[in-house]
Amino acid sequence: MSLLENFERYPLTFGPTPVEPLPRLSEALGGKVEIWAKREDCNSGLALGGNKLRKLEYIVPDAIASGADTLVSIGGVQSNHTRLVAATAARLGMRCRLVQESWVPVEDAVYDRVGNILLSRLMGADSRIVDDGFDIGIRNSWQEAMQEVRDAGGVPYGIPAGASEHKLGGLGYVGFAEELRAQEAELGFSFDYVIVCVVTGSTQAGMIVGFKVDGRAGRVIGIDASATVDQTRAQVTRIARNTAALIELDREILDEDIHINPDYAYPAYGVPSEETSAAMRLAARTEGMITDPVYEGKSMQGLIDLVGKDYFPAGARILYAHLGGAPAINGYANHYSK
Ligand SMILES: *Cc1c(COP(=O)(O)O)cnc(C)c1O
Repeated sequence: MSLLENFERYPLTFGPTPVEPLPRLSEALGGKVEIWAKREDCNSGLALGGNKLRKLEYIVPDAIASGADTLVSIGGVQSNHTRLVAATAARLGMRCRLVQESWVPVEDAVYDRVGNILLSRLMGADSRIVDDGFDIGIRNSWQEAMQEVRDAGGVPYGIPAGASEHKLGGLGYVGFAEELRAQEAELGFSFDYVIVCVVTGSTQAGMIVGFKVDGRAGRVIGIDASATVDQTRAQVTRIARNTAALIELDREILDEDIHINPDYAYPAYGVPSEETSAAMRLAARTEGMITDPVYEGKSMQGLIDLVGKDYFPAGARILYAHLGGAPAINGYANHYSK
């Protein structure tokens, strides 16, 4: 019986995402553990895909039922989330209004013209850049964008940053856990750890709830990329508990179910360290697997460092949840042109 059977889902993805071994990366890290990836980055034909679509599948029915004609959302200039809200609006035949905040100290001349924002503009979103800095919470600029849509006679439906602080935002990644259990039954083994990047929190929070039922919640290792880890931890905790209550889970989410490692977010959100870039190069050169400097490069860096420190017992099977994000790399040409 599915934990999500009482919730409507609007399909935006192809279906279960592939789970594949990464043998050359495992070997390059000493061959003591087995590294696999679940490819959320190739989950859809909508605008190159990514983790936000899994969340949006449970939010769209509510948006349609509300009578909205415009999706309103918010993120950084190179937000993957706003790209996927723009794609969802296009798919639904709705309009899209995006607030793009200046979350990252920009170095690259084309940062606000390529990658995610280019794709959002191509899909017809009304994307406007504002000066506000990084914050994963609810913002004034977002409330103002909602009001502007109303003033123009539209009916807005608001989706907060990362689709996280939304009552239905945690459901998609509960579904990830259920999907993985079915895939593990086919493979004939279960993964010992899941590595996942965390910023606005509903991806890891949903996984924690979904894996709580088989005792693996604490084996979901969130690698923080926000560099504001206290706020992220509080948000993951809140979303996990709210989601557990929403699906009427008969277990309580405990503090020890929430495992977030803050060690790889430096120097700042959206800024790759030398070690982040080295991790991205290693994944690319061993497996042809593209990660980005904002999110997945940092979780890849965490995975590589933890393997190197023998954090995982020999023989452990580790699943790297690849959440997408590659388009942002276009805004970082100065880091990777050599
Ligand atoms: C949004 C995003 C994340 C972080 O997920 P949250 O649910 O916001 O914690 C990680 N990787 C990529 C590529 C993302 O777009």
